Amino acid sequence: MPYQRLIADAMAAAVPHLHRGRVADYIPALAAADPSSFGMALATVDGEVHGVGDFERAFSIQSISKLFTLTLTLALGGDGLWERVGREPSGTPFNSLVQLEFEDGVPRNPFINAGALVVTDRLHSLTGDAAETVREFLRAESGAVIGTDAEVAVSEAGHGHRNSALAHFLASYGNLENPVATVLDHYYAHCAIAASCRDLALAGGFLARHGVRADGTRLLTRSEAKRVNAVMLTCGTYDAAGEFAYRVGLPGKSGVGGGILAVLPGVGAICVWSPGLDAQGNSVAGVAALDAFTTATGLSVF
Ligand code: GLU
Repeated sequence: MPYQRLIADAMAAAVPHLHRGRVADYIPALAAADPSSFGMALATVDGEVHGVGDFERAFSIQSISKLFTLTLTLALGGDGLWERVGREPSGTPFNSLVQLEFEDGVPRNPFINAGALVVTDRLHSLTGDAAETVREFLRAESGAVIGTDAEVAVSEAGHGHRNSALAHFLASYGNLENPVATVLDHYYAHCAIAASCRDLALAGGFLARHGVRADGTRLLTRSEAKRVNAVMLTCGTYDAAGEFAYRVGLPGKSGVGGGILAVLPGVGAICVWSPGLDAQGNSVAGVAALDAFTTATGLSVF
C-alpha cells in the first residue's frame, strides 16, 4: 500500500480538528503544548517508517508508557500479575478511585492509573528500576536517544494528589510491594518519557509482529501478544474505548500528552500525536486521523 500518501491523507482529514480539543493542564508542564502540533508515523513490521507532520518531534508519552510496563511485566514475570490487576474495561475516568473500594484493591485493568501503579510496582520488583527498564526498551526498539523529561515528572509529582491517594489506597489493601513513594517516582518517570511518533511506532512493532522484537528475538508469546492487543482494544482509551473501537477499530493506547499508539496486526504500528484532548483525555485530531486512515484503507481488526 502507498502508506506515505495514505497517512498524508489522514493528516489532511485531521487538520480541521486541530483546535477542537483542550490541552491537558492538570499537569502544569503539559499546559504549554501547542494544540496545532500534529505528527503521524507508521512503522511496518519490517521496520520501514513513513511519517508526516511533526512525526520526529518528541512529546510526553504519558499513559502510552503503560503499554510497555504491562508488556515488560508479563514478559519478565508471567501471568501472576493478573492476580493483582483485572482486565475489564472500567467505564470510569482514568484516575478514578471509586471501583477500588468495591473490588478489594484490585484495579479493573492495567491501563487506568490504579492498575498502572500496580504494574509499575511489579516491574520495579522484577527489575530494580521500572522507569529505566521502559526507557531501555524504547531505546532498543527505536534506536533513538530516549529519556525522561524531568520537568514534566516533577510537575506531575507536585500536583499528584490523586495518584498519591490511589497508591496509598492500593497499599492499604496490600497490593503494593514497594514503598508508595518509590512506585509514584517510577510511575511519573515513565509517564514523562519523551519520544516521537516515529520512536513509538517502531517500539510498538512487536505487537504487530505477534510478540517478536525489532531484532527478531521473542518478547511475548503469540498468545500473550494477542492478549495485550485485546486489553488495548478494550481498555486502552479510557472510558472512550467503545467509541475508539467504533471509529478506529484497532487496539490503541492513548496518553494525555496527546499521543495514541495503535496496532495493525501483521502490518505495523501507527502513532499519532496532537495535544488537544477530548473530555475523556484522547487526542481529538489523533482519533480523527486514525478514523480516516482505517476507513480509507480497510486496515482495522474488524
Ligand atoms: N501521568 C498521567 C496521570 O497519571 C497519565 C495520564 C494519562 O496519560 O492517561 O494522570
